[in-house]
Amino acid sequence: MRARIASIENIIAQDPGHRKIFFLTQRDHLRLAALSLLGGKRVLIASGFPILKAKAGETDGPPGALALGQALRRLGKEVSYITDAHQVHLFKAISAEPVMTFRDDLLERGGFSHLVAVERPARARDGRYYNMRGEDITALVEPIDELFRKAESHNVVTIGIGDGGNEVGMGRVFKGVMEFIQHGQKIASAVLTDYVVVSGVSNWGAYGLVAALSVLTGKDLLPSGDEIRRTMESLAQAGAVDGVSGLPETSVDGLPLQRTVELVEEMRWHLLPAPLGRVTGLKVGVIGAGTTGIAVARLLLRKGAQVRISEKGEVSIPGDLSHCPVEMGGHTLQFMEGVDLVVRSPGVDPRLPFVRGLWQRGIPVLSEMEAAFEMERPQLVAVTGSVGKRTTVELLSRIMSRLGRSMPFGGNKGKPLSELLLEEEKGPIALAVSSFQLESVLHFRPHIAAILNVLPLHLDRHGDPMEIVRTKSRVFMNQGPEDILILNRDEPNLRLLEGRHWGETLWISAKGRVERGAWMAGGKIFLSPEGDEATEIPCEENGIPPEPFMVALLSAWCLGADVGELRDVARGLGSP
Ligand code: MG
Ligand code: MG
Repeated sequence: MRARIASIENIIAQDPGHRKIFFLTQRDHLRLAALSLLGGKRVLIASGFPILKAKAGETDGPPGALALGQALRRLGKEVSYITDAHQVHLFKAISAEPVMTFRDDLLERGGFSHLVAVERPARARDGRYYNMRGEDITALVEPIDELFRKAESHNVVTIGIGDGGNEVGMGRVFKGVMEFIQHGQKIASAVLTDYVVVSGVSNWGAYGLVAALSVLTGKDLLPSGDEIRRTMESLAQAGAVDGVSGLPETSVDGLPLQRTVELVEEMRWHLLPAPLGRVTGLKVGVIGAGTTGIAVARLLLRKGAQVRISEKGEVSIPGDLSHCPVEMGGHTLQFMEGVDLVVRSPGVDPRLPFVRGLWQRGIPVLSEMEAAFEMERPQLVAVTGSVGKRTTVELLSRIMSRLGRSMPFGGNKGKPLSELLLEEEKGPIALAVSSFQLESVLHFRPHIAAILNVLPLHLDRHGDPMEIVRTKSRVFMNQGPEDILILNRDEPNLRLLEGRHWGETLWISAKGRVERGAWMAGGKIFLSPEGDEATEIPCEENGIPPEPFMVALLSAWCLGADVGELRDVARGLGSP
């Protein structure tokens, strides 16, 4: 369950406002906030952010508050809402429940176990309230944040959900808001909560909390796409405005409604457990009959699954799979009827209507890499980055073989994980992993993970270099204290990932000494994974790019090679 919620926590940190939100997110707070709510009895949910130019409430906040309130009610909690008097009609438009306004003695009288804020203004250090443009909105705000400030002395647990740094709860990430958010010095929230959920859009944070509650309780508590649409339409009709356009419409923070509907759909997929713990007898559909599809089909068969294959083109199926049912020339839902699970080849886009249709029928669809990992739980070195992944894993394999240990390697452009697992050797595998693959991992957990670099390539897909960092961070999302992360210290965005990792971090740098790791100085490479005396590694004219070389050396050290051995095997490594 931890992995599923970690993945949800990662996807709600998508950052359409380009605010470097990901660096403000607090790892595991989503799960902890949900667990805390499960133990609660009476929950007061505050929302409503006034938009100055429209003198009206915005469309970000109330829909999330409502979804959370409805989920909590289904779990048997008592729920009430609170907002400014001038925004009460917005809540009335979407909910039949009573809506409160600020009173000084609410905590004394209310008997609340939890206070939750969804996109609710918080005072800054100067005691005034500001919007994201740094404009003073104090005249439009009732001091509901005061209740959060007093909650602790009433034994009330507080949760804040926000997307910009000026909301209730964001005081918990005050330093990050000061550093990363425009006007942060002025607008940073001075109101902190026990748990904080930072998301790209506050509604998404609230839906994420509902998804986490759903994972923890095994009940789908998320609103349907139609429910979300109806809520947004009622809200816009009642006069709520998009915070970006200032107009009454169903968009949120300038984003079309459909974006939110799709995100909630993706969260819902996290609620379907993939039954790979017991593969024998499992009915599994494989989409794509290329090298990867065939490899994963073979692995599934070896594990005792019943396999059927769907291929959009016309290919010949190898003899050992000839007993499997096959459809060619396109994918159909009928062909997949009755399967427990579908595994898709990396070439098959997870957003295809066919794939969505499978999810909607309650059939989980896993990527080949995720499925192969779940079946065998191999020991992995996973290397990601914009350039040099493949060079790194190939080099690591060569270093290991010089040390007398064979290490298969592959990845996004080489042999897929399933094929590597079909080869008889049991032992660690080196895998190059792309951002595209990382987008759909769930339980994937390499023992050693490395992020080589993050260059602004593929911006057409991600739109923002920070989005690449967020996606790459999924490579270590499930790592624990016994796992190792290798990061490039020369990239400021990667440096900031250290605090999000619970295990040990090793560093590489082309710009000189790092505390623990490998670095270049004066054209030479040095190694000191334990932070003691540095050892020079011979690298003269070996033609190996330094970043992959350093990551390969550190990975080999993590796998048990000592520094002296590495110095010896590095000699002449460049020549084939
Ligand atoms: Mg906001
Ligand atoms: Mg917002």
